[in-house]
Amino acid sequence: MTTERPLLPAEVVRWLRKAQHVAVLTGAGISAESGIPTFRDAQTGLWARYDPRALASPEALANNPGLVWAWYAWRRQKVAQARPNPGHIALAKMERLVPRFTLITQNVDGLHQQAGSQHVLELHGNIMRTVCVAHRHPVSHWEPVAEGEAPKCPICGSVLRPDVVLFGENLPHDVFQQALEASQTCDAMLVIGTSGVVYPAAALPDIAREQGALVIEINPQATPLSDVADLTLRGPAGEILPALVRQVWP
Ligand code: NAD
Repeated sequence: MTTERPLLPAEVVRWLRKAQHVAVLTGAGISAESGIPTFRDAQTGLWARYDPRALASPEALANNPGLVWAWYAWRRQKVAQARPNPGHIALAKMERLVPRFTLITQNVDGLHQQAGSQHVLELHGNIMRTVCVAHRHPVSHWEPVAEGEAPKCPICGSVLRPDVVLFGENLPHDVFQQALEASQTCDAMLVIGTSGVVYPAAALPDIAREQGALVIEINPQATPLSDVADLTLRGPAGEILPALVRQVWP
């Protein structure tokens, strides 16, 4: 006979059951099991020879718009084919089980919403939305252009771009303020699938910890945030999160 070892120690289960506000910070790792490459994985093969700034910065968009569009078209295609995995679904369920729940994501793929999460703070925008550089007009149709060029806004004629935060750009102010407030007031924060090196998002677990929240990291690899966390659960989010929800809210 085998008995399954519980994922969480009893005091962590008690803490999570009592928590009035749970915040979650997710990164590219939670979508890895949906087939969307993490930033590091995405930079293999065809794209390995490019510096990320050559693909995803305002300068790159100005100087080499065709290359930036080709890179985002490749990523958009990956996202369009992807479906939420058990990790996304477990978080949508968790939202219905705790009194207050804030899901902060660095992802641009929209998979949390597809899984049923209601309140998602998208720190870095959404790759499936397109806007123009001049006025941020939201655009869903545009005229095809020759290879190497970027399409233009049908309203003002300026170049179109994905509605994401590029390297060197500020995060949307209101969204970041809400993420900050959640980090300052939560009783527990789950930090899932993020390498913890992209700021200011990477500062949020530290802020939560300083305010007395219990911080739990879920990641198969150690990261700089492992030292901040009270507990690290090493493994894929798609396996750990459903088990966590089952144990805490059976
Ligand atoms: P990152 O690529 O830097 O790090 C991914 C982390 O996920 C790593 O620490 C890795 O060990 C971990 N990981 C891998 N597989 C996992 C799994 N199955 N379960 C749990 N963790 C797993 O990602 P980041 O920290 O989010 O920063 C990269 C930036 O790139 C972000 O700003 C994000 O906007 C962007 N990005 C987004 C997507 C997306 O929307 N899906 C994909 C790639 C990059």
